[in-house]
Amino acid sequence: MSRRGAILEEMGLAPVWRLRKGSAPAEDRETVILKMGWDELKRVVPACTACPLHATRTQTVFGVGDERADWLLVGEAPGAEEDRLGEPFVGQAGKLLDNMLAALGLARGENVYIANVLKCRPPGNRNPEPAEVARCTPFLQRQIALIEPRLIVALGRFAAQTLLGTDATIASLRGRLHRYAGVPLVVTYHPAYLLRNLPDKAKAWSDLVFARRAMQDLQTGSAVPK
Ligand code: URA
Repeated sequence: MSRRGAILEEMGLAPVWRLRKGSAPAEDRETVILKMGWDELKRVVPACTACPLHATRTQTVFGVGDERADWLLVGEAPGAEEDRLGEPFVGQAGKLLDNMLAALGLARGENVYIANVLKCRPPGNRNPEPAEVARCTPFLQRQIALIEPRLIVALGRFAAQTLLGTDATIASLRGRLHRYAGVPLVVTYHPAYLLRNLPDKAKAWSDLVFARRAMQDLQTGSAVPK
């Protein structure tokens, strides 16, 4: 095996290396991922061994929905049910998310794409480690570039902080329109947090109303609310 092949194998990108064997200059892992199309991305994510979470996952959870959706919802990481079924937000938090979508007149898969920052479940549902987020983020970045959503809704602290490159709190990020790579982004609470903190559901609802208004403005070409 060539040195490049060995590097990509170690990075969990052996399938890419096999596909591109013989192609010229060595590229770093992130650069390779950021050039992938859907098919390649969907082959590489399930084969990824770039962080220790591959050893404890049942399967990767890639993301689900309309690959040209206007709405992109980004959560944190798969939980037990998601790890078992291979789809994001299918547990209790997912039911709440589906209800929130329905209240907006939206449904999973219909002009909506749902993804997570991490594609593998952290054992015991612990918080993602910074190194895991760093290794996994290029996959999400590439999904966003391919979807080209009109609006991103960051669900919870990890999604918001990862996409906005900040360590600010959800409370301080809510109620404003942010941008991720030029795409308008709204921050709200994670559905799992809302299940434990019912009074904050009203705040999440006002975030979603804000997001819906921003989307209407984006779709009609009016000024986006600040
Ligand atoms: N929580 C998340 O952030 N994502 C899921 O897919 C499920 C629970």
